[in-house]
This record gives sequence, C-alpha cells and structure tokens, in this order.
Amino acid sequence: MNLTNYHSHCSFCDGKAPMEDFVRSAIAAGFTAYGVSSHAPLPFFSKWTLEKDCLSAYLSELEFLKSKYADQIELYTGLEIDYLTEEHNPSSPFFQKLPLDYRIGSVHMVYTDEGKLLDIDLDSEDFKEKLNECHGDLKQIVKLYFEASMRMVELGGFDFIAHPDKIALNASYCEAGIDEKSWYKKMREDLLALIAEKELIMEINTKAFSAKSRFFPAQKHFALIKEMGIRVVVNSDAHYPEFVNSGRAEALQALKAIGVQTVCELHGGKWQELAIY
Ligand SMILES: [Zn+2]
Ligand SMILES: [Zn+2]
Repeated sequence: MNLTNYHSHCSFCDGKAPMEDFVRSAIAAGFTAYGVSSHAPLPFFSKWTLEKDCLSAYLSELEFLKSKYADQIELYTGLEIDYLTEEHNPSSPFFQKLPLDYRIGSVHMVYTDEGKLLDIDLDSEDFKEKLNECHGDLKQIVKLYFEASMRMVELGGFDFIAHPDKIALNASYCEAGIDEKSWYKKMREDLLALIAEKELIMEINTKAFSAKSRFFPAQKHFALIKEMGIRVVVNSDAHYPEFVNSGRAEALQALKAIGVQTVCELHGGKWQELAIY
C-alpha cells in the first residue's frame, strides 16, 4: 500500500498527542513519508489552531524530528490554512513567506450574511444548533461554503485542497438528501471543475471513515473526479497517533476499483504521481 500521509495534527493545534508520537506511529506503520499540518493561526483566538506565538517552536520541532528520523522517514512541514477572507487565506503574504514544505487550503468556517462566523466542521448536532442560532438558512450556508471554496481555489497559494464538500455531512444531517439536490450538485461540480481547470491536487480525506464510513469527498463522487482528470492525495487527517493510516487502504482500494491508477505523494520535495499498489 502507498504508505504516506500529508494531513495530520498534533498537540501544537487540536491533535491529541505530541508531534513525535505521530512520527513514531508513522514509522512503525512503515510509512515512507509523513507531513505534519497543524491548523494555521487565525486572526483571532481559537482553541483548535496553532497560536501565532508558537509558530517558530512548531517549525523548529519539525526540523529537529526531520534530522532525528532522517534515515527512517521523509518528514515534511505543512500547515492547514483556512480561507476566511480576502486578507486571511493560503495566498496571504504571511503564509507564503513561512518556510513550509507545502500548504493545505481548507474551508471550515463561513461568514454568514449577518457577519457571524459559523463553523461548518462542528459535530452535526452542534452545527444544527449553531445554524438555528445564527442564521437558520441551510441553503444559504451551503452556498457561502462553496463560494468560499471557489474563491480559495481562485486565489491559490496552496498545494492541495483539503476535504472538499465537507459540509455535505452536516448539511445532510440537517436535511437528508440535500447534497443530491440539483442546485447543490451544481455547486459541487463547479468546484470540482475549477479544481480541474487549475490543475490542483485534491484530497480524499479518510478521517471519518472508521466512524462514519464516508470519505470527503464522498465515494459516490470518485467517478466524476476521475472523469475530470483531477489528481488526488489520500490523507488520514490524523488527530491521534494510532490513526495515521485510518481509512487510507479503503480509499485507495475504492479509487483503484473505478480505474484511478495513481495518487500524489510528496517525495524528495516534489509532488509526484505514483501508482496505487
Ligand atoms: Zn480540515
Ligand atoms: Zn485537518
């Protein structure tokens, strides 16, 4: 199996163990490459992101681990950067200037029409509650999510887009079948088409597979991804060291089953398309 992962967290953000525990777990699992990608600092306090003051410690810790385990694994320094506004997104000069090996572009939050920030990545019941509190119009929130994702892709500045269509999980929880409505499908397809046009790498995120039996984007969209010729990277988005490879074998198998031959992996500092094996 292709044993790599470039989307992972640790105790510098909302991961549940020190960075080195994840690295050791990846080595024990036989990984050839592993990237740490803490949630990048936001322009306001947040419990789940790296604090700006800790950025240099984060970068130093990775440099230390890179040399300590140099003969066992290729380690990479990443950040998962949120698109929030025109000023705060992966293309912002602040993030572009950081000495990173790669950048991940993500949308976890949207500004509602009333200017309130809504986290679309909450536990489903909490999302439903917050949605009712702050807005209540699910279709509008879905629209804002896809608009933010499209804008992030337009602006660029990142190596791959994380978990596109992540909102499908919580939106479907609030309204079953919403992600199969024609307006929703069009927004998802427009986003995929833009990713294809920009020749960006797209993540197949396996974090929820063991608990919820779903990938982001969902398996039912894999055929369209193949048809559009979008290159993919399969990541576990691990928050626990024991889950560094969680769901990856199943995603690779599902891709292979519909005829996808390759996945992207970062080796020797370059993204390469390697055969699924
Ligand atoms: Zn994420
Ligand atoms: Zn993540």
